[in-house]
Amino acid sequence: MIAERVKRVQESGTMRMKELAGQKKAEGKKIISFTVGEPDFDTPKHIVEAAKKALEEGRTRYLDAPGLPALREAIAKEAKEYNGIPCETSNVLIAPTKHAIFESIMATVNEGEEVIMPDPSWVTYEPCVVLAGGKSVPCTTTEEGEWRMTPEAVAELITPKTKMILYNSPSNPCGAVETHDDIRGIADLAKDHNLVVLADEVYEKIIFDGLKHHSIAAEPGMMDRTITISGFSKTFAMTGWRLGWLIAPKPIFKGINKIQQHSITHATSFAQYGALAAMTGPTEPVKEMVKEFQERRDLIMELMKEIPSFRCDKPKGAFYVFPRYEGDMDSEKFALHLMDRAEVAVTGGAAFGKAGEKHIRISYATNKQNIREGMDRIKKILA
Ligand code: GLU
Repeated sequence: MIAERVKRVQESGTMRMKELAGQKKAEGKKIISFTVGEPDFDTPKHIVEAAKKALEEGRTRYLDAPGLPALREAIAKEAKEYNGIPCETSNVLIAPTKHAIFESIMATVNEGEEVIMPDPSWVTYEPCVVLAGGKSVPCTTTEEGEWRMTPEAVAELITPKTKMILYNSPSNPCGAVETHDDIRGIADLAKDHNLVVLADEVYEKIIFDGLKHHSIAAEPGMMDRTITISGFSKTFAMTGWRLGWLIAPKPIFKGINKIQQHSITHATSFAQYGALAAMTGPTEPVKEMVKEFQERRDLIMELMKEIPSFRCDKPKGAFYVFPRYEGDMDSEKFALHLMDRAEVAVTGGAAFGKAGEKHIRISYATNKQNIREGMDRIKKILA
């Protein structure tokens, strides 16, 4: 009964491990979960209050498909002023971030066209391309190369069938940050070969050590061929709200909006009022969360030094570490081994692509006590 296109994609490796950890907890196991990238903080109060107020005021009816005009305007303003993206309100569409990626790919990639993306990369990019009938072309990145997808490596993979270059910075699962030179180089390739770029910038604010985030759509001539993706989940601890956005040039925007109209219509109305408060309200809560993430990164890096079979360089952003481990077990088995023996849930690196094999992803978006306890359990099991 199942369509062939669905058979061509795997279950989400991140969601599967999250669900498995949940089942084990329900069975009474004291699992520490380092699975999904979900900040453990509560959504800041002023955001919650704004959504509550919207509900009380009856803002529960249909909106136009691209979303609440005031929210689109606030996002365009921020994108222009902070990211340097030359966009207008009319380029901004509100959707759950994952859906924004899905509909962007559906709207641009034809049957048989190729999408170059980093390997390892987030588990959902490839399935989106496959569901669109396209082909994902992995660009192998390495720990020695800081897990960056360099323009030189991308250039070697471009063929007449290439349609899109997709990248994610700061990155999931490696916490890699593309340099400004990388981004300029990728922009040049896109212009030279007439390609679309999909830049997933959902971790743009979670960047450490004073590094600056660069948006490729801000490079000369790139707004016309770039879809910039970002969202509220990670920056504002709003995972359950299912809200993000995309910024696309007009012709692409129109195509994406058709899919939006025919799929979700628009993102939840009252949630968008909360998101408006997030965009226009105080910035301190975000700064505090990012500071805490950096402390957690430093803590987990220290704790990993005590595990001789792990090797990992310091990630520069997002909230993941991606250590390499020693031994013969494949990463799926290794993750299940840690779940069974240490009661610690992680995601096997191969879920993110071939280059992720022999690694695990640890999401440290959980509190320091959990980080200490979880890493201690892993250390004892591997000793
Ligand atoms: N993006 C997060 C992660 O990689 C959330 C789960 C998901 O949607 O994959 O863990």
